Amino acid sequence: MKTVADLHMHTNHSDGTLNPTELARLAKAQGVDAVALTDHDTVTGIEELVEETNRLGLEAIPGVELSAKFFPGTLHILGYGFDSRGPIREKLVEFQKAREERNPKILERLKELGMPMTLEEVSEISKARGQIGRPHIAEALAAKGYVKSYEEAFNRYLTKGASAYVPKANWSAQECIDLIHESGGVAVVAHPVQMKLQGLDLRKKVSELAEIGLDGLEVVHPDHNSEVQELFNGLAGEFGLLTTGGSDFHGDHKPGIQLGQGRPPYVFLEKLRERIKRQRKAY
Ligand code: AMP
Ligand code: ZN
Ligand code: FE
Ligand code: FE
Repeated sequence: MKTVADLHMHTNHSDGTLNPTELARLAKAQGVDAVALTDHDTVTGIEELVEETNRLGLEAIPGVELSAKFFPGTLHILGYGFDSRGPIREKLVEFQKAREERNPKILERLKELGMPMTLEEVSEISKARGQIGRPHIAEALAAKGYVKSYEEAFNRYLTKGASAYVPKANWSAQECIDLIHESGGVAVVAHPVQMKLQGLDLRKKVSELAEIGLDGLEVVHPDHNSEVQELFNGLAGEFGLLTTGGSDFHGDHKPGIQLGQGRPPYVFLEKLRERIKRQRKAY
């Protein structure tokens, strides 16, 4: 019987450290029954992943994680079950461009702060094979001795609001959700605790998102303790949203996190599949 569906993970096509084949093999080893690869702003790793999951007899569905414009925290929107050759493929090229324009700006800020590095150095130090993002810059800052650790790099310089932080997201939540829907997919807020909203503000935001078409909330996530899980489970029920879960595995970029962590229940995927079927028919 299938019991675990880990629906949130990254490879070196974005800021994870494993390639899709290695990721699939690790999922198998960890006793995960189904996976969704949700790289940031790209779907290029999916084909290789599916080749290996097919070989291993694992279930896989297409996924992606988009960053939407948001305040005060971050709003990441997971897309599932879309046609990866649909409109999303072309549009994600624009998302990639925003990412590429941002890195030199972050490096410019760091230089002003007395920590010069080139993009080539960042890429070499972090052994980035896919897109470069803040985790790679954090690794390089630590390797060059500008900070003691990866965490310190984020906390002092790279986290939202810090001195070298440069925003990336150019797309609204509505645009992200529409893009996923137009490609036949289903849209879920990743780690909703990271929106950094509470009480009435949180309810209002979830209600607004549901109104503009959001399909679900990620309930099981390493950032959610049982109390937080209960909170989002309740909100999902109240607004007719699906619930999902995942480990947000990044390999060595988040060493504390295991693939399959939290053992997200397979039943989440069964419900998600029903919704995907309806969505595919609608588009
Ligand atoms: P980017 O897509 O370049 O903005 O980088 C986002 C990634 O940075 C996330 O997926 C996390 O892996 C990592 N990250 C963001 N904030 C922090 C933080 N405060 N500490 C450590 N890692 C972080
Ligand atoms: Zn990431
Ligand atoms: Fe995220
Ligand atoms: Fe993620």
